[in-house]
Amino acid sequence: MDKSKVLELLSKFISIQSVSADSKRRKEITKAVDFLKNQFKEMGVDVKIIQKGQSPPLILGIYHSDHGRDLNGNRKTIGIYGHYDIQPEDPVDEWESPPFELTIKDGKLYGRGVADNKGHVIQNLTSIKHLIKVNKLKNNIVFIFEGEEEVGSDNFENYVKEAKDILSRVDVFYVTDTGMYKKNIPQIFYGLRGLVYFELEVDIGNKDLHSGIYGNRVLNPVQILAHLLAKMKDEKTNRVLIPGFYNEVRSITQDERNNFKSFARSDEEEKKTAGVYKMISLDKDQAYLSSKFYPSLDVNGIVSGHTREGAKTIIPRKATL
Ligand SMILES: [Zn+2]
Repeated sequence: MDKSKVLELLSKFISIQSVSADSKRRKEITKAVDFLKNQFKEMGVDVKIIQKGQSPPLILGIYHSDHGRDLNGNRKTIGIYGHYDIQPEDPVDEWESPPFELTIKDGKLYGRGVADNKGHVIQNLTSIKHLIKVNKLKNNIVFIFEGEEEVGSDNFENYVKEAKDILSRVDVFYVTDTGMYKKNIPQIFYGLRGLVYFELEVDIGNKDLHSGIYGNRVLNPVQILAHLLAKMKDEKTNRVLIPGFYNEVRSITQDERNNFKSFARSDEEEKKTAGVYKMISLDKDQAYLSSKFYPSLDVNGIVSGHTREGAKTIIPRKATL
């Protein structure tokens, strides 16, 4: 397939505003599903849709290789995972090109979803399409595309269970919802850190109080949170001080160290990419490993008290992080 056709297809996919976090754009989710269904149809791939209520469905595309037999045969079956939903485009005024218009600038592609995960989905579809066309595809393929990846994949487990008969025949899964280390340096991910998300609320009563009247007599929830947070991490290394936090973390082998060392970016480069003034390291020997091999703990936001213009002398009744 020539390059312009691939770009045309990607451009069409990018123009669909399949933001799963926005319930007002459910029609766009349907458009993305139809888009993929059409692609499968053109490729001669069977489609199966699994959906619960109005949730974004799971799309399965099943290809039986002519060279093999059906999914029970000896030919290996390759599973390809991807997602057709995207993150919201806000803040819109910080985009240098319209988010839903594929834009090429200095050899780079811009548009919401290009890097996560629509670009990869198009790569997978067009390359498999090409292999089928030139009669070179010798494996069975099972595509599995979900539409809730950006909002926590609520139904994914159930969908997978429903598709068990098909998915259990997959020999190897190929997940391209990842990135490349650098131009021309592809990466194979063999582990991900996972995620646990908490909301913590400290409450001292049922109303905000005047700090002139109650200062010194009640606890301040912001301060309580600040004390708690200060105890959780070493500020110099970012090492988490919560007992047992690293108990089940396996150690890094020498091979892994050497491998990472051979291509890791310098702190200077990392600083530039991240746009920060300083980088720190948890790993004593290899800074880059700090965010690759160790679990981390971070505060994503704190809300409390008076944050609007001007002063307001209160002791807030609660603080949330
Ligand atoms: Zn993704």
